[in-house]
Amino acid sequence: MIVPFARRMLTETDPRVLWTFTWNFGVKGVRSVQRFKTRLARGEHFPPFLYISIINSCTLRCQGCWVKVDGPRHFIDAGRMDRLITSAKKRGNSFFGLLGGEPFMHPQLLDILGRHRDCYFQIFTNGHLITDEIARELRRLANATPLISIEGTSSVSNTRRGRKDVLNKTLAGLEACTRNRLIVGVATSVCRSNVDELVDEAWLRHLIGRGVHYVWYHTYRPVGDNACPELALTPEQVRHVRRFVVRMRSKLPLALVDAYWDDQGQALCPMATGISHHINPWGDIEPCPIIQFATESIDDERDIFEVLNNSPFIRDFRETAAKTTRGCIVLERPDLVKTLVKRHGARDTTHRATGAGLGELDAMGSRTSQHQPGHEVPEEHWMYRFAKRHWFFGFGAYT
Ligand code: SF4
Repeated sequence: MIVPFARRMLTETDPRVLWTFTWNFGVKGVRSVQRFKTRLARGEHFPPFLYISIINSCTLRCQGCWVKVDGPRHFIDAGRMDRLITSAKKRGNSFFGLLGGEPFMHPQLLDILGRHRDCYFQIFTNGHLITDEIARELRRLANATPLISIEGTSSVSNTRRGRKDVLNKTLAGLEACTRNRLIVGVATSVCRSNVDELVDEAWLRHLIGRGVHYVWYHTYRPVGDNACPELALTPEQVRHVRRFVVRMRSKLPLALVDAYWDDQGQALCPMATGISHHINPWGDIEPCPIIQFATESIDDERDIFEVLNNSPFIRDFRETAAKTTRGCIVLERPDLVKTLVKRHGARDTTHRATGAGLGELDAMGSRTSQHQPGHEVPEEHWMYRFAKRHWFFGFGAYT
């Protein structure tokens, strides 16, 4: 798998794009995790990876979306992003996930990328606004990879995303990326309506044929004001996705990302391990994207390290989640999420109706997440085993 994959990366992508990925994400990314581990040893908590929802507006209306996409536009402007990124860089961070809403609706997105050429950005997008002109500029900047979400074949895509002709527009954006020799990925929030079609070898080979370099299978989270709990996967389906990903990692010339299992196949929660936290379009600092409560903001006069390292709310969330489960505290124990929110008097950051956040937690029953003891599926391929053993594991959270 490695040689054909390396050949693809060397022949399909722009050399400067590939070099910047290798250095800013690869070398500096590993260094940022090493510095994270050193901080942990000193009892300090600051994540190497920040996921920032830079704008709330979006062109789509997806089932299970937790963002207040309709109503007034809110975005984190380039000045506030500079302050945030510059502070995080002081701690060795070089990788940032940019989410929304739809990040390409942000008026200063390319400007923000241009101001931080020494960093690497993964842009979570529906691809609809990626034109050749934008893809050319991404190629010139070379420091970002679009991660384009595909939620199903044509009719399923329209239903999942609440609009018409969704898949064609997404594929047009994908083609603009490959035409301009970018490193591009496809993400799917795997649920009952797309698991059979998209968790499939033929689909992955189709994506390889379209020039896709990596795929990220998220597990559908039934949250937000259009939660559609009937779409959530069964425990067996979650296990099926895990087995499939592990198998395909040894077989196909593309990378398969996951954020929920270590090299032994033991579950983990990125929030509980402290490897990542989330900032919403209003600047609220949240434990993770779907825990829409906060006590701190990026507009605090202290720098982001001081804010996160000294946050009793974020610390309590990490520690309580890790003590409770290796899986997802939101799926398994929404009642405990509510207890933590009340304990710290955290404000509701859904920006939906007053009390919407706690109301949505009350409506959620407990369900199985990625933590299914006795069903661990260890990594088969040595490269994923090595990478996870050193740079993506429990980091001492689950002792
Ligand atoms: S709490 Fe759940 S959704 Fe949030 S990071 Fe952990 S596993 Fe993921």
